[in-house]
Amino acid sequence: MSDCIFCKIIAKEIPATLLYEDDYVLVFMDSGPIIKGHALVIPKHHYDLITETPDAILVQLHSTAKRIATAQMNGLGADGVNIMQNNGAAAGQEVPHIHVHVIPRFIGDGHHWNWNPRTYDDLDERAKLAEKIKNHL
Ligand code: AMP
Ligand code: ZN
Repeated sequence: MSDCIFCKIIAKEIPATLLYEDDYVLVFMDSGPIIKGHALVIPKHHYDLITETPDAILVQLHSTAKRIATAQMNGLGADGVNIMQNNGAAAGQEVPHIHVHVIPRFIGDGHHWNWNPRTYDDLDERAKLAEKIKNHL
């Protein structure tokens, strides 16, 4: 994808601070970290969304995210790690080349995700939505 910023990073056309690279994935520091040390794991082949990405590549992405998380804990002293992966603009995906965020977290780091849990009208509404999902599994 010629206009994809992450494809340009893979092609070394724009700079990035690399953490890891193999035949399948590239890992680099996020330039706008939620918490300093925030890394992105991307496949070397362009896929937009998780729904288009082959399972074998997802395995590579997430096993690499696990390695990065371990390195953030051991190397940065992170107390925890958030793994995030946004799909589609509605979900907050700004760069349409699938990527896994690996975000080191520290006790008292001051970041809050602002989870805002909602409620179903009743159990019937919840069951009907579950049915719609299950029908497509
Ligand atoms: P998302 O909102 O899930 O698509 O996340 C995109 C991420 O890419 C954001 O966290 C950005 O800070 C990060 N980002 C965008 N451009 C660059 C770049 N050139 N180098 C490193 N990270 C980038
Ligand atoms: Zn791309």
